[in-house]
Amino acid sequence: MIPKIIFKVSWVHNLMFDENRYINKQERKKPKYSPKEGTELLKKSKLFIDYFNSNSEKILKLIANKSGFYWKEDKIIVYISDTVPNSYEDPLTLKYQENRECMHLVLIHELIHRNVPENLQNSVTDKERETWVEVISKEIYDILNINCPEYPGLDIRNVNKFDKPKEQSLKEYLYKTMN
Ligand SMILES: [Zn+2]
Repeated sequence: MIPKIIFKVSWVHNLMFDENRYINKQERKKPKYSPKEGTELLKKSKLFIDYFNSNSEKILKLIANKSGFYWKEDKIIVYISDTVPNSYEDPLTLKYQENRECMHLVLIHELIHRNVPENLQNSVTDKERETWVEVISKEIYDILNINCPEYPGLDIRNVNKFDKPKEQSLKEYLYKTMN
């Protein structure tokens, strides 16, 4: 089973993260993030959504294959937001970016977090967990030939120095090194 990916724009979600507007008490009475802005965000995200959807099955299968873990969810809602400071995995919130490839890359990263078992991710440091995710990400980016020059993760995490062979899934690698 691979999950169905559903893209949404949540007005409340965007409003909550809209710090500049929300922090100001006077402004708080009348919400500033308007439903119209949400509609526009969805409209400008359409190219990205179509692009992802045309490839989503392949991407989700690749993630499970590279991680070695089955998908546990049958659907994942992805909230696209233009007010969040960063993307994060749960609830999966994707920061809108003009650059479609960069957005794609970040979504793959967050989806990997959703695929690798939570207890395993919680058993290691943030640094280790992010390295695992980026190592899988890099293999997928290379296969899909996607690239974002501004994306810092792969260098920061020293992905090229991680000694998992490409043929091995993360699960197999961890099993061999941890036991
Ligand atoms: Zn991460």
